[in-house]
Amino acid sequence: MQGVGFRPLMYQRATRWQLTGCVRNQGGGAWIEIEGTAEALDAFLAQLVEQPPLRARIDHVDVRLIPEQGSTRFVIEPSADVRGDQPIVSPDLAMCDACRGELFCPRDRRHDYALLSCTQCGPRFTITRAVPYDRANTSLTEFPLCAECQREYEDPTNRWHHAQGISCPKCGPQLHLYASMADAITTAASALAAGQIVALKSLGGYQLACDASNAEAVSRLRSLKQRDAKPLAIMVSDLETARRLTHISAAEERLLSSPAAPIVLLRQRAEHPLASSIAPRNRDLGIMLAYTPLHAALLHAARLEALVMTSGNAGDEPIVCDDQQAIERLGGMSDWIVMHNRPIVMRCDDSVVRVVDESVLPLRRARGFVPAPIDLPLTCRQPILALGGQLKSTFALGAERQAFVSHHLGDLDHLESFAAFSETIDHYQRLLRIDPCLFVHDMHPDYASTTYARQRVPAESRLAVQHHHAHLASCLAEHGLNEPVIGVIFDGSGYGPDGSIWGGEFLIGDYTSYRRAAHLNNVPLLGGEQAIRQPWRCALAHLRHAAIDWIPDWPEVSHSSLSAARKLLAGRFQAPLTSSVGRLFDAIAALVQLRTAVQFEGQAALELEWLADDTPEGVEPYPFELCASQSPMQIDTRPLIAAVVHDLRAGVSPRQIAQRFHGTVIAMVVDVCVVLREQTDMNTVALSGGVFMNVLVLSGVTARLRERGFRVLRHECVPPNDGGLSLGQLAIAAAWQNRDN
Ligand code: ZN
Ligand code: ZN
Ligand code: FE
Repeated sequence: MQGVGFRPLMYQRATRWQLTGCVRNQGGGAWIEIEGTAEALDAFLAQLVEQPPLRARIDHVDVRLIPEQGSTRFVIEPSADVRGDQPIVSPDLAMCDACRGELFCPRDRRHDYALLSCTQCGPRFTITRAVPYDRANTSLTEFPLCAECQREYEDPTNRWHHAQGISCPKCGPQLHLYASMADAITTAASALAAGQIVALKSLGGYQLACDASNAEAVSRLRSLKQRDAKPLAIMVSDLETARRLTHISAAEERLLSSPAAPIVLLRQRAEHPLASSIAPRNRDLGIMLAYTPLHAALLHAARLEALVMTSGNAGDEPIVCDDQQAIERLGGMSDWIVMHNRPIVMRCDDSVVRVVDESVLPLRRARGFVPAPIDLPLTCRQPILALGGQLKSTFALGAERQAFVSHHLGDLDHLESFAAFSETIDHYQRLLRIDPCLFVHDMHPDYASTTYARQRVPAESRLAVQHHHAHLASCLAEHGLNEPVIGVIFDGSGYGPDGSIWGGEFLIGDYTSYRRAAHLNNVPLLGGEQAIRQPWRCALAHLRHAAIDWIPDWPEVSHSSLSAARKLLAGRFQAPLTSSVGRLFDAIAALVQLRTAVQFEGQAALELEWLADDTPEGVEPYPFELCASQSPMQIDTRPLIAAVVHDLRAGVSPRQIAQRFHGTVIAMVVDVCVVLREQTDMNTVALSGGVFMNVLVLSGVTARLRERGFRVLRHECVPPNDGGLSLGQLAIAAAWQNRDN
């Protein structure tokens, strides 16, 4: 991969072994010619494989003998642009230790220079206009090197040798404050310390920051950003601070301090000095380490334990990455704006991950991970564009055996998000030189991504894929598997080919086809989309389905909306049927009076998970029934609802009910998988869909299935939610292209 200091390192090693020849970037990789003694050649090659450069990812090494060139020294040659080679672009990399050392060393000429980046760190994807990765192809091209930087750049013994991102306070991009001549770092730092809000230009866009222990500042930021409920991420300067605030495992520490430096969700300590409004009702805290010198310098100068660090945008709009827009849109949300003149070529949000049972669970895949390719278990005969879903949108470009899944693009409901979606596709196509012939989209006729496909290409170049089939394929594809499996897809909602809304599915299939083997029984979604925002509607539907007249006391729900919803129950109008597990979670959350309305999809389910907190061994699941005589097999939830109501009326605590409910969902998965294994002889289960972001369910299901001898596949590379759809669509389309073979 380019942009990871590969060429300078090869130079060092070749000269050490007294080899002559050259190295250059070529297509998506590097081309090395070496000439010397057999012993030195072998040693060089062995080292390449055994000790690859720290940040590099070596997919394969291809060794060929060429005629003797008679070269007398080793040189780094200009990049060769070979048509036909798949370009690869490195993700952005978090600040390295050497750069941190220079930043904080008073004698260093880059002391306090908050925009330094070397061969091992700094922006890549977000400043790259074209490949190969050379300074001229990045937004640093506007900053010619000063004499001293030029000397370092050419000196093979210097760590800045051939660093495309080299710069210094004299010749590099400069920080400044909007509408002020004051020093950016010191002014912003004291503003933060005084409880003010600062907007700052980070790698992939602007961020809004404030002191995380200042409750007033946090609530002001929330109201200015119109963000009422969603947790805010915080940034700290080192692992020690993160350890003081949260409980961290070794795997979580590795993730936090990895070059991708994502936001990691960690369990909060019982007592810490941060404002509770950062993550209301939440047992977890989203933490990242300072990943640019600017962040590190600010935290250091402000002498604060932690900063709230959230994307610079209002509501669900795309993150601001343009300076003029920052002034217009963030000016009203912040007291100061820290800007610099290194343009952001492509916006990119922070990534969010968590660790479950020692393995990574991606929740939002963006900075630090994109646009690194994911290997496909099958070949795209012609380039493919997969457009994903509607919420938590991503798209994926496929060429040969590689999938380039885009960064998280948010919900496409907004006109602006849709415009950004379309622009981002153009950018990826240009950058990766993939010109798709086949467009894959969800079956849902009204998704903005479906509309996009319809607008761009005629019907014969489009392929519609069922939502949960794509979830299944996504999980298979990231594991490099190409064989039929049992797919457990527990989700919010997805368009079903029978006109109902699916979301509690057991599918048997692979990329070419699938069969709906079992699903949760259907209940009406009262008021359609409204039911997603008002979980009490889900509860009412489930109560009625179980023939229970009783309802809990919901003070927030008016009599008129209740009776209107009851009327909907009578007819089918505005009440499509759904088998969604996400909505079942909503129903239970409303039944235990946790929440009757939500501000974002999945909020009630998330709070139900926190309420349960744990599923202690031996907790007894609620009853449910498998109707194996039907095809597809139905999971009858009526006994479950009746038992929950019984518990509620008997005064059982909401927490216990939440725990038993989680245990029930786990039992459902295991029981159905056991039946399906008997029917099909299949032993591999793929878990996908948004519900598998629930740690209790994910972890419990995995453990119980493994106890029963199943092989369990879960998401470790793309999110189980709709952010992973595009990868699955892509794999299905590739299989479709190969259907005649
Ligand atoms: Zn560095
Ligand atoms: Zn310089
Ligand atoms: Fe989905």
